[in-house]
Amino acid sequence: MLSRKQQTSGVADNQQCDTYAWFSQRAWVEIDLGALSYNVQQLVKFLSPRTQLMAVVKADAYGHGAVTVAQTALESGASWLGVATVPEGIQLREGGIKAPILILGATHTPEQIHAIAHWKLQPTLCSPKQALVFSNVLESMNNGSPMEVHIKLDTGMSRLGTNWQEASEFVQLVQSLPHLAIASIYSHLATADSPDLTAMQEQHQRFEDAIAQIKAKGINPPCLHLANSAATLTDTALHYDIVRVGLAAYGLYPAPHLQNKIQLHPVLQLKARVTQVKTIAPGTSVSYGHKFTAPREMRLAVVGIGYADGVPRQLSNKMQVLIRGQRVPQVGTITMDQLMLDVSSIPNIQEGEIVTLLGQQGREQISADDWANQLDTISWEILCGFKHRLPRIAVM
Ligand SMILES: *Cc1c(COP(=O)(O)O)cnc(C)c1O
Repeated sequence: MLSRKQQTSGVADNQQCDTYAWFSQRAWVEIDLGALSYNVQQLVKFLSPRTQLMAVVKADAYGHGAVTVAQTALESGASWLGVATVPEGIQLREGGIKAPILILGATHTPEQIHAIAHWKLQPTLCSPKQALVFSNVLESMNNGSPMEVHIKLDTGMSRLGTNWQEASEFVQLVQSLPHLAIASIYSHLATADSPDLTAMQEQHQRFEDAIAQIKAKGINPPCLHLANSAATLTDTALHYDIVRVGLAAYGLYPAPHLQNKIQLHPVLQLKARVTQVKTIAPGTSVSYGHKFTAPREMRLAVVGIGYADGVPRQLSNKMQVLIRGQRVPQVGTITMDQLMLDVSSIPNIQEGEIVTLLGQQGREQISADDWANQLDTISWEILCGFKHRLPRIAVM
């Protein structure tokens, strides 16, 4: 086995065909922890003074590697972590992380509640029924201090949460349950990335109304939060006590109109190696279905990455990649483990050379937004699409 350092340096040494690295890594995801740290620091500076940053590291930190990302985010100014599921929270605790962890998804079963208590995770409570289940299970466990829970209100996303109109009854119920302690009250925005602020402002107003209702019952909410990345960048009035930031920490903007707010650097790059170079004659067809035919003699580079690694097959014959700082077209159908490039424009490409599918080489850059636009989806989905077969390699 190579040490992590050897692996990393093998990859970072640009363009070198050094044997061990290119045999052990045909393709990989490179995670720039310096960029992550920079983004988190920029975000923290941008927040209202009383506001803390929750780094949302669900889905293996949007494909970046949850434990490493969480550690770096915490070192760079984040105070909270957000995950979607109990196992995601456990993974962070097993990785040695001590910071408070909010589970954003729903949890219901006694097994989940036991694990939440054991690993000191903090659940989201979405309904009176769920609150009672928690209370009953904790009663039967009989283990001392109350569990810190977060109340989720639905203010217009129509996903998890109790309707904002019923907020005060729900909060009163949870407060009356002896084994539960309300740590925060929160909601989630459906349209924060839209330049049209109308629907978001309506949600904001509903959240404010719910808080007023709760206060009118004599309950002072200890902590409030509403903003995702887009809302964080849109308006400091949405910051409250915590912002829950995912995408922006990974260096991408939730929408083009938010790009001038702060500077962010993409954290993730997708790279692979050329595994064979060949010349094909005019009229030669390439890959499954012969969907591409060379109009002239062509230098073809075979690259060791494919759709089983998370390169979308729909990008076949459409995507470009970077090699030696230049853009070259991908040709033919993308296969499970390999794809082909037309490298005729660059002399003397060698086996083992590094191809950047997402990321930067010299002045050229291909971003997850470029893929998202080509595929009519969002950058969030692109980032989450890289499979575990690809090693995540951290660089500074
Ligand atoms: C995923 C998620 C976030 C983070 O969203 P970004 O747009 O990536 O910043 C925040 N809050 C909740 C409830 C989420 O599920």
